[in-house]
Amino acid sequence: MVITAGPEFVMMAQTDEELRHIARVADLVTPDGVGVVWAARRQGHGVPERVTGVELGMDLLATAEERKRPLRVYLLGAQEPVLQLCVTRLQRQFPHLKFAGHHGYFQPDELPGILAEVAAFAPHVWLVGLGQPRQEKLIYGSLAHLPPCVAIGVGGSMDVWSGTVKRAPRLFQAVGAEWLYRLIRQPSR
Ligand code: UDP
Repeated sequence: MVITAGPEFVMMAQTDEELRHIARVADLVTPDGVGVVWAARRQGHGVPERVTGVELGMDLLATAEERKRPLRVYLLGAQEPVLQLCVTRLQRQFPHLKFAGHHGYFQPDELPGILAEVAAFAPHVWLVGLGQPRQEKLIYGSLAHLPPCVAIGVGGSMDVWSGTVKRAPRLFQAVGAEWLYRLIRQPSR
């Protein structure tokens, strides 16, 4: 289980006991936000750089494609048309991999059926983009019932991979100010 922990995740984990436990038992937690990188450094942890879900997921798929690894990848999350667009795009971009997916707007009673679908597909990589902390809780609660796989909470990455949402301009990213761009665009965050 991989968590990309941005400032919002870190703050939620202060008060959410379950989330804190999940973060402790996760196999890998990456600092997904320049604020987390700064805070970690201040506390003496050598964190080299920010690692976002968008980049981690994309680099993983690109590396598998480069090595011609026929990985099965299941995407769970986003609006139905976005998910479909994302699967189509990724399949075209990474022909050695095999993609399947389900949108993220389902009722709780639909979850067992969706997990059965995931289990039948037996993904090597399971990308879950439902927003934090829901995606982490769902992964934590489901992994034991699935064939072994690497599950990554990717937040809104499918919106980006599908081309539906644009990331901050590179300049903002390069100077560690993507948060400023998002603050301006989505003040409620
Ligand atoms: N989402 C979903 N089901 C829901 C609510 C949200 O699949 O019931 C998706 C939403 O479409 C978006 C992602 O979850 O693709 C959340 O994106 P956001 O950027 O808010 O998440 P963060 O990266 O901040 O965790």
